[in-house]
Amino acid sequence: LAGVPLQITGLSKKYQGSVDRYAVRELSFRVEAGQVLGLLGPNGAGKTTTLRMLMGLIRPDEGEIRVFGHAIRPGAPVLSRVGAFVEGAGFLPHLSGRANLESYWAATGRPVEDAHFAEALEIAGLGEALERAVRTYSQGMRQRLAIAQAMLGLPDLLILDEPTNGLDPPQIREMREVMVRYAAAGRTVIVSSHLLAEVEQSCTHLVVMERGRLVVAGPTAEITGAGEQLLVSVEDG
Ligand code: ATP
Repeated sequence: LAGVPLQITGLSKKYQGSVDRYAVRELSFRVEAGQVLGLLGPNGAGKTTTLRMLMGLIRPDEGEIRVFGHAIRPGAPVLSRVGAFVEGAGFLPHLSGRANLESYWAATGRPVEDAHFAEALEIAGLGEALERAVRTYSQGMRQRLAIAQAMLGLPDLLILDEPTNGLDPPQIREMREVMVRYAAAGRTVIVSSHLLAEVEQSCTHLVVMERGRLVVAGPTAEITGAGEQLLVSVEDG
């Protein structure tokens, strides 16, 4: 796992048509291997914009992103060491969850006999549901299947944009366990959320954003201990 999983320096982004408002402003932080980093902040804080820049989907106005030491730019090939979940993955409804993942995996040119494929399914923890047709899935189950899809191949860095959105409380608990299992082997997870309660138990580190800027960053225990006032205001946002 050579290289620092993620280092961003002075990242800024202003959308076209937005005159004075930066979606992300002078953001810098670093994520070490084995960390589960929670990117936390109210709606509009700039979490999704940040993650889309990390994935190379949109171009920052300023700043630098290094993933395992490689500079990330839109249009450049996405590193195979990075997996990402964003909402809205499409599945074939008449096929089982497993068959959907197998066809996705086959399309990447790798065999389903790959040990990584089996291990990823194990970590995702979908159990028997994998054998059912996707059309029978709840919205939450579809979401969990999309998260499992992002894990196939066991990328060294897994990026999850609001994976708990739309999940019920038991599914949210399971999601926490999935993230912890995923990172247990020294892999790195970045997960965004607008609720501290959803991430504090699974995240080793937090980066709290508000109005595009970093408010505070550090180990979860330090932040939840020292900044309760701050976090209350973030959650109210
Ligand atoms: P949420 O939890 O609602 O997804 P977020 O923290 O992910 O919020 P972003 O989606 O990154 O925040 O949005 C940051 C700011 O950028 C907001 O003010 C938003 O309105 C604005 N914004 C986001 N996407 C676009 C876009 N495509 N065009 C213009 N403005 C945008």
